Amino acid sequence: MVIFMKVLIADEVDQECPSRLRAAGFDVNEWYGISPDDLKKVIADYDILVVRSRTKVTKEIIELGKRLKMIARVGVGLDTIDVKTAESMGIKVINTPQMSTVAVSELTISLMLNLLRGTYHAIDSMKKGLWEKKHFYGNELYGKTLGIVGFGRIGKAVAERARAFGMKILVHDLFVENGALIRLGAARAPSLEGLLSESDIVTLHVTLTSETKHLINARTLSFMRKGSYLINTSRGEVVNTKDLLDALKSGRLAGAALDVYENEPPKEPWERELISLPNVIATPHIGAQTREAQVSGAIAVAENIINAFKPL
Ligand code: NAD
Repeated sequence: MVIFMKVLIADEVDQECPSRLRAAGFDVNEWYGISPDDLKKVIADYDILVVRSRTKVTKEIIELGKRLKMIARVGVGLDTIDVKTAESMGIKVINTPQMSTVAVSELTISLMLNLLRGTYHAIDSMKKGLWEKKHFYGNELYGKTLGIVGFGRIGKAVAERARAFGMKILVHDLFVENGALIRLGAARAPSLEGLLSESDIVTLHVTLTSETKHLINARTLSFMRKGSYLINTSRGEVVNTKDLLDALKSGRLAGAALDVYENEPPKEPWERELISLPNVIATPHIGAQTREAQVSGAIAVAENIINAFKPL
């Protein structure tokens, strides 16, 4: 039984996390929504800090955490944690990269269906009490080429689902294993530009790095087929928003679906304009927000903490 290990949970997580930790003997304090000032005051009392994206774990907070041994992020991105400072102080940083794979891939498929079929317009029209049946002609996914940029966990899960719709899959990634291509019936694109010029729909699933920031810009957008679609559920900065707005207004792209933005929430006039276009579907970064993903992330974090600190 683990004793005297104190855990602070700073953001709301599924109850599976605190209840598993308590059952294993950890002393858990759930202080959801704790302010940065309060966190600074109390962090010295804790061995383990559990956060989601709301809590910014800065250098100052980490340095005040004299007892800290682990920072656990329920979620994927570690951009809200100063990992370098933590690691230089011997504090382990963990996350749950698998938890959102199904949730984000299902959202991507749902955005793609909605975008091509125009269901969002039809739903709006019905809610207004109208019956505009003849206005709503959409397109099918069947037989279309889906270009997947970034063939990691989520990119592969999207490919698996898109195959069920009879789509042809084209892939661009820095590292693509032949086994995964064969298993998922996908083909390797000759280059990013080659993928963009051969796809009816392009979906982005790369990690955000200095190379992928603004990977989709005026130059790369010019390779996309006239009348094609772009979906971004990866990170907002992968797309140059102003250039995407131009591509949509000029008619090069038929539409776009976005879950992520350069500013969250979007605040610049060009971001607001982009979202307000009739051929753009926008969701407020909800990719990972399924109950199932939250439960699996909470369990994964609790089990990782228990395994890391269980007595030998
Ligand atoms: P992953 O690490 O499994 O896959 C990312 C892939 O991108 C890797 O295969 C990598 O080789 C590839 N890549 C990196 N740089 C590249 C480049 N320059 N050119 C081509 N390919 C490149 O990550 P994942 O779990 O599949 O997540 C994919 C994206 O989804 C990430 O950006 C992540 O932040 C985002 N995400 C969004 C949500 C959401 O709520 N919308 C939730 C979870 C993850």
